[in-house]
Amino acid sequence: MLDLLVQNATLPDGRSGMSIAVQGGRIIEVTAGLDAPAAEKLDAQGLLVAPHFVDPHFHMDATLSYGLPRVNQSGTLLEGIALWGELKPLLTAEALIERALAYCDWAVAKGLLAIRSHVDTSDPSLLAVDALLEVKRRVAPYLDLQLVAFPQDGVLRSPGGVDNLKRALDLGLDVVGGIPHFERTMADGAASVKLLCELAAERGLPVDMHCDESDDPLSRHIETLAFEAQRLGLHGRVTGSHCTSMHSMDNYYVSKLLPLIAEAGVSVIANPLINITLQGRHDSYPKRRGMTRVPELMAQGVNVAFGHDCVMDPWYGMGSGDMLEVAHMGLHVAQMTSQRGIRQCFDAVTVNAAKVFGLDGYGLETGCDASFVLLQARDPVEAIRLRATRLKVYRKGRLLAETPAATAALHLADRPAATAWMHPKN
Ligand SMILES: [Zn+2]
Repeated sequence: MLDLLVQNATLPDGRSGMSIAVQGGRIIEVTAGLDAPAAEKLDAQGLLVAPHFVDPHFHMDATLSYGLPRVNQSGTLLEGIALWGELKPLLTAEALIERALAYCDWAVAKGLLAIRSHVDTSDPSLLAVDALLEVKRRVAPYLDLQLVAFPQDGVLRSPGGVDNLKRALDLGLDVVGGIPHFERTMADGAASVKLLCELAAERGLPVDMHCDESDDPLSRHIETLAFEAQRLGLHGRVTGSHCTSMHSMDNYYVSKLLPLIAEAGVSVIANPLINITLQGRHDSYPKRRGMTRVPELMAQGVNVAFGHDCVMDPWYGMGSGDMLEVAHMGLHVAQMTSQRGIRQCFDAVTVNAAKVFGLDGYGLETGCDASFVLLQARDPVEAIRLRATRLKVYRKGRLLAETPAATAALHLADRPAATAWMHPKN
């Protein structure tokens, strides 16, 4: 007897009437119209079953701290960093853990079951590192948390930056981070990229660097990152996050840069909610959008994922752990409004993000983990349009979260009472 049998599901690739058979936490068969004895049966009623959402770029040490100790007035990245600097001496491990765990609850409710979070290693006490390692242990039964050693104050710029980062890696962080555009000079930025990539190569770790998060068309750190990835043989293990300067770069230069990124096997993460908010703040009008060149990168064969980056912290006062909101903003800012483009934005918060994460057993195929979400939508396009309700969230065959369907009860004159959700045929 099966543990779980999902029937009448529509899959992201468009196949409908599909059954997903689950045994021992894994998918053992995906086929049309299967019926078999099962401990639990779920009739998807033609709605979309998708692999769970993955957030490849987040800052869990800062999340839910909005307003502590004050709100970002200018809305810029730099004031956010300064504000985080004011908050750091006030942080306690208990409060940080409590906020992070609360966020993980939100995430699970939204079908977000894997998060790559950067954690600031600049403070010599490594308080945030210890706290997030504790969070990682506590959420392990229901959420995959991957931690990036992130020298927020600049690995070269801040005193003891390199040593603090190495000690954080020794404690068991998973990925080497960096912030070359925050170093004092372009040369120092490039030196930090080289140093951090060499450190990752020595330790056999992946790299995920905040890269060129500015509107400076001459910021060139993604170029250095791709070059180092190739030089050190880190193909497929390196990610450039943000890369917003690419928005403002000269087109000729970009035509040379994109093939380098593709050849080096470097993934790129755009953070649409945050960069539409933070970038362009020094512009009058017109204001630049400040998101990296998503469709052009994808067309070059680069793996591009979307991250949430921030939820209610010194940089961003909005957010709820909803990766469909991220995809929704991404497709608007990138003007990826074709059916194909919208589906690519869905991939950016699911399969592409899982590739950045290096998640084993991800997907809806035989042998994959039975970790999926039933959405109140008929396909990925509708899921993004409606930021569809996550009716049920499963991880390894176990039900983790349920949300009632979103419907409106209508009481209209001269018409019988009715319910509606925002689907054209309903
Ligand atoms: Zn970030």
